Amino acid sequence: MKIVHVASELFPYMKTGGLADAVASLAGTMADRGHEVAVFLPGYRSALDHPGAKSAERTFRIRIELGSELMSGEVRVFSPRKNLRVHLICRDEYFDRRHPYGNGERDYEDNADRFIFFAKGAIEALRLADLQADVVHAHDWQTSLVPLLLRDAERRHGVTLAMKTVFTIHNIAFQGVFPSRVFPRTNLPEELNNIDGLEYYNQINLLKGGILFADRVTTVSPRYAQEIQTPEFGCGLDGVVQTRAEDIKGLLNGIDTAVWNPAVDALLPARYSSANMAGKAVCRTALLKSQSFDVKFTGPIYGMVCRLAEQKGIDLLLANADFFLNQNCRLIILGSGEKRYEEALQALAARAPQRIALCAKHDETMSHLIEGGSDFFMMPSLFEPCGLNQMYSQAYGTIPLVSRVGGLADTVTDADTDPVNGTGLTFPPTNAGLADGLQRSLLLFADKARLAAVQKRGMERDFSWAQAAAAYEQLYQDSL
Ligand code: ADP
Repeated sequence: MKIVHVASELFPYMKTGGLADAVASLAGTMADRGHEVAVFLPGYRSALDHPGAKSAERTFRIRIELGSELMSGEVRVFSPRKNLRVHLICRDEYFDRRHPYGNGERDYEDNADRFIFFAKGAIEALRLADLQADVVHAHDWQTSLVPLLLRDAERRHGVTLAMKTVFTIHNIAFQGVFPSRVFPRTNLPEELNNIDGLEYYNQINLLKGGILFADRVTTVSPRYAQEIQTPEFGCGLDGVVQTRAEDIKGLLNGIDTAVWNPAVDALLPARYSSANMAGKAVCRTALLKSQSFDVKFTGPIYGMVCRLAEQKGIDLLLANADFFLNQNCRLIILGSGEKRYEEALQALAARAPQRIALCAKHDETMSHLIEGGSDFFMMPSLFEPCGLNQMYSQAYGTIPLVSRVGGLADTVTDADTDPVNGTGLTFPPTNAGLADGLQRSLLLFADKARLAAVQKRGMERDFSWAQAAAAYEQLYQDSL
């Protein structure tokens, strides 16, 4: 098949979260399976400076209509591996910025123009390159107009650009909501500027366009596909998602097992596997040492790696501060994000600096050490479309302690309710839920035979992208 992805992040050229990893792994695995894959990405500075992009095999100009204005841009095409081409849609005014969406405090004011330009640029490049895709697959609000703009471009030019369109919701909390004056920038027919189209409480909602008009809609776990049809998790779009209930599928992301595998992980101080766990003890010592904790400590170590955002359940953790202050345990958090959470966690660490640590930064090596060296990995998320770290944790023999929501519920089996298959501990996303999970983790830690069995089962689970890619392949084929 000829498969085209349009996305605002792609590892290693631009990454703020799981989206970059998911698109990169999906595109790469599909290319390895023999499909012809193209990915369209904004021409961010970090992408243009990447060695691969510097040796572009082809560049061409595009001119894009935004309302009554004509904007020019350039497309740079390069091939990082067999069967895979990356197309950078460049316009420095829009994309020569360090962060893709905002300055850290606020989103950029011209985000609507930037991503409408990107979506139209991708479609125009598709037309000029004469790619004739089987499937055009767009991701999240930044590209959610692609299904609409693509059919509009086909009408205008009298051509076929793609057989089918697929749209994936990686996180419904981000919707691309803008004032209604933005609508004319799309150049879409005015009849789409109503309640059955993009209109949303007198504004326009770009995500809504992707959900309503793509041939197929997916999200990143089966449970999240159900959850977003409810008011509790739908962030105001549950009614819209319900209209696609027949077509929406939850396909779990996989993990990159070349990067996240304790048997080959070069970022760990020692490697290990379920057959020989000696290296995990070395990682434990290195982790304690990295925080200047007593390396002879034998109690449970709780690790956490995440964006410091409400979604990740930092409030639940703070409400359970007494557990970490009073129990004989260690807590090590790696995260950056909202200042208020950074300050609250810093204050907690200051109350017990020999036992609690916050590393307020983004640090790839440290994230591997926490996965390798901890006994428990905490994800008390309020919602979680898929989540990656709970899968990494199982691969690393680190017991995930997770809220029973979204992809966490789909990938972690509770060891108390299912002693035969359990790979972690799950609880409802509440203060009391986390408190209960923490108490149960102490019991599990004290029972070394049970602990080892739970670890081993997690390590033997298959979370590789091969499974996920096969599911997408099936979806594409079904849609065709
Ligand atoms: P989300 O996309 O909501 O941020 P995911 O769990 O899907 O959550 O993916 C987040 C990815 O980013 C994971 O690979 C996680 O390890 C990584 N990550 C998050 N914060 C940090 C950090 N401070 N340092 C290193 N890696 C991080």
